[in-house]
Amino acid sequence: MAKAQFESAKKSREADAGKLRMATEDKGIVQQVDKIIQEAVEQGATEIHLEPLQDALVIRTRIKGALKAVDIDIPKDMKNNVINRIKVLSGMDITRTKVPQSGFFKLSLEERKIELYTYVMPTLHGEATIIKVQYKQSATLGVDQLGMTKNMLASFKKALSRGSGLYLVTGPPGSGKRTTAYAAVLEVLKPEMLGVGFDPVIKYEVPGMIQGKPEEKSEFTFAEGIQSLMKQEPDVAYIGDITCNEEARAAIQGAFAKRVVLCRMTANDCINAVQNIIDMGVQPFLLAASLSVIINQRILRKLCKNCRQPYPAGQDIQKELGLRLPEGAKFFHPKGCDACENTGFSGLCAIYELYIPSEELNKLIVSKASLDSLRQRAVKEGMISLKMDGITKAMRGLVTVEDVLNSI
Ligand SMILES: [Zn+2]
Repeated sequence: MAKAQFESAKKSREADAGKLRMATEDKGIVQQVDKIIQEAVEQGATEIHLEPLQDALVIRTRIKGALKAVDIDIPKDMKNNVINRIKVLSGMDITRTKVPQSGFFKLSLEERKIELYTYVMPTLHGEATIIKVQYKQSATLGVDQLGMTKNMLASFKKALSRGSGLYLVTGPPGSGKRTTAYAAVLEVLKPEMLGVGFDPVIKYEVPGMIQGKPEEKSEFTFAEGIQSLMKQEPDVAYIGDITCNEEARAAIQGAFAKRVVLCRMTANDCINAVQNIIDMGVQPFLLAASLSVIINQRILRKLCKNCRQPYPAGQDIQKELGLRLPEGAKFFHPKGCDACENTGFSGLCAIYELYIPSEELNKLIVSKASLDSLRQRAVKEGMISLKMDGITKAMRGLVTVEDVLNSI
């Protein structure tokens, strides 16, 4: 088992705590608590509950949405020491047991950095404790784990392997664009390369990448930040939301200088993203000459595999969708079971649209053709629309067809 390293947020108050603290530093208690937390984290638990009963401490962990009891025996005389050890770790006052408290500590386990938020509440038989586990995502999610269909993944990887150009990751707010963008960075950034990132929120830390963010009182604009970032001559540049002409131009200039430039941008679909960039005042020929790929996406609730209920995708549904589905096609309803806490859903699933430019499509962009003709041509060349990717995933029982239609 890997060694976990614990780091408490701040020292808990010293006064009167000496004796209690000694008990919490007892080797047995420390090991016990460390073991409980480490095992929970290794299993991907999002919560650890310590529930005091009259003569025991029950420990349960929430894994994939469901609470499960941990098979561990904490005798009555040890239960307060266990709670106190957690309170010390979390920087709480262990002399106070009759008031709710909250605290925080960090844990590194192998390469992962994990933040644990602790809440303690007095109850009849002692302090009930919940630890909420936040996995600080050092970006480890590769493009293979984004949930793309096989063909789409192959096209995306091929586009990323071009080595330079403008890569736009688009979607509405909250559609998981950062996750996709960072996965793409991980795919292209090699140890011998220089990678730089500039993003208002750094959600993921990428090993080997210099990451900056505009401060609230920065004396430079976001566009100036991008320009100075490009002066470092990175091989791979990642830029948080681009919203205006200067930012888009700085990004495109980078792409022309033979860099991989990945940008996040708000747009409803891929064709809409083309329009947005042109609306920002970028010359269509510059966009056409630099664009490598556009991806558009949504995040949907994933159906619980345990209890989803298939139903035939009948003629009426197909008519409503404006599609002819293969014989025997099925969609799925959520139901609810113990595994999904009766919600019918467990986890998330992304749906994607991938636009790969071609000579023809670039000609249409340069000639300022209508969005409709651009879209029709892209579909003719094999672009899987967001709707089609969603319906494919609905037929596989990953998402409901209603969620797909509501999201696009
Ligand atoms: Zn279920």
